[in-house]
Amino acid sequence: MDYQKHFFEIYATLESIENTGEVAQYIPELSRIDASKFGVSLTTIEGKTFSFKDANEKFSIQSIVKVLSLILAYKELGKELWKRVGVEPSGSPFNSLVQLEYEKGIPRNPFINAGAIVIADVLVSILKKPKEDFLKFIQNIARDNSITYSKKIALSEKQSAHRNMALVYLMKSFKNIKNDINEVMDFYFSICSIEMTCEQLNKSFLFLANNGSCPIQQKEIIRISQSKRINAIMQTCGFYDESGDFAFRVGLPGKSGVGGGIVAVHPGKYCVSIWSPKLNKKGNSFLGTKFLEDFTTRVESSIF
Ligand code: GLU
Repeated sequence: MDYQKHFFEIYATLESIENTGEVAQYIPELSRIDASKFGVSLTTIEGKTFSFKDANEKFSIQSIVKVLSLILAYKELGKELWKRVGVEPSGSPFNSLVQLEYEKGIPRNPFINAGAIVIADVLVSILKKPKEDFLKFIQNIARDNSITYSKKIALSEKQSAHRNMALVYLMKSFKNIKNDINEVMDFYFSICSIEMTCEQLNKSFLFLANNGSCPIQQKEIIRISQSKRINAIMQTCGFYDESGDFAFRVGLPGKSGVGGGIVAVHPGKYCVSIWSPKLNKKGNSFLGTKFLEDFTTRVESSIF
């Protein structure tokens, strides 16, 4: 399949539509990004990569990292983890406080901010040197030591993190945060600040298209049963309160971030990553979603 040709043709058809999205404003450092950037890259489980436009430019992966932090916590804690965080779609905005109050501090799923903060707390408890160990975990999966944190973006988020701080204090009051709040949030802001290119994202997520094992290194990252569960959570919760719509339009498990990135996997086939910074009202990349919708429709390749 000549994916490159499809990327080129789809991009040409989308150039004329009006992108009504907006670059994330609530993290000042992200608001400065060049909104016209666009990159897409697909890597097959046989190891062939097809890239288009800015696929080799680094951007802030933000919430996409929540899949990798969940995976590390799940590997370490096993099913005990589900006592601290649920696996149901929230149907609420990613930073909502409302549900958390009446569900007594147990976040609906690990991909809304509250859930990812609980996962950060779990990792702060488990890892000896949380930031270093977590980064090594990702670098090993991707086989790429150039992946790193952006101190500038982490600091920028920290300085405007009023809602996330409200979430963590609320969960602490329900005893679902075990560590010092500042330590947990410092870790959370750091992992959200990780920068990657579309190609690096593919390398970091390809194992989820291959039953939990990296097809290039022939190395198990997580068990088949765990890979099934992670993909299921991506399918049902990966796009906040737009997860149903993404499944309807694109039909692949995936995860978005407010940096404008989306990663999606087609189990047994490929991993595809896309970056376009302008976000729709739900916080997902406007053009990225549209592009993936056209792509899976055109190549007739979705899990449904
Ligand atoms: N660091 C961002 C936050 O906590 C992540 C949100 C996202 O990418 O959806 O708000």
